[in-house]
Amino acid sequence: MIKRRVFLKQSVTTALAIGCLPTWAKDSFIDSEDPFFWSVNRLMGMSPRSLKGEDPLVLTRKTFKAFNKMRVAAWEDGIVISPVSSFRSYSRQKAIFESKFKRFQAEGLSPTESVKKIIEYSTIPGTSRHHWGTDIDVIQGKIKIDGDVLLEEHFNSGGAFENLHHWLTDNAVNYGFYLVYTNHPERKGFKYEPWHLSYAPESIPILKRYINKGVYEIALQQKVKGIEVINSSLKTSYLKEQLLDINPLLLP
Ligand SMILES: [Zn+2]
Repeated sequence: MIKRRVFLKQSVTTALAIGCLPTWAKDSFIDSEDPFFWSVNRLMGMSPRSLKGEDPLVLTRKTFKAFNKMRVAAWEDGIVISPVSSFRSYSRQKAIFESKFKRFQAEGLSPTESVKKIIEYSTIPGTSRHHWGTDIDVIQGKIKIDGDVLLEEHFNSGGAFENLHHWLTDNAVNYGFYLVYTNHPERKGFKYEPWHLSYAPESIPILKRYINKGVYEIALQQKVKGIEVINSSLKTSYLKEQLLDINPLLLP
């Protein structure tokens, strides 16, 4: 880590000396002060510019900083927070959506039934909070699990990640992180996700911008196999439930 930093520092110094900056330096370190941070393309996951880190930990600079602060505090309490997924690009989300659409159709579902089934768990490309760089899926590190790690049962009492769940419940808000998809009995939309955290100081203004700019409408106009079957009633319920029926503390 230290070696890498020294290396990067040297490369920048050298680049400055020869009068140019390497591409990564030009593309990095854009914060919310920069208009690009708020651009429709960025909010739809079409550009990782302004994000920091390496997969699976790619976040905006402020979210990254806050996350690390929380991670250190948890570590001091004996809990290892391990990131599983953070920034997800538009093209990745599109690939997920289209492959599910193909699979459900092959299983005999109609195009509309296929899309309805996809959006129980997955987002329409361009509408994922994972495009923003403010949201992250975490599990408890140093614990071995067979199969899928992102299952509610692991976070429930008696589950492998129970201690992480308790720690996050007691402490995450102190660092600005909130669950998006809570287990509130009246909440609709995406199912309960005890692993999905959002950094409120950045994601609240982003959601506001997202709505005001009509990014959701723009996402639905893109060329994606299957989204042409989304009619106005499905569109309305997706916006109301999947995108906006979230933890009320994360609403603008
Ligand atoms: Zn997630």
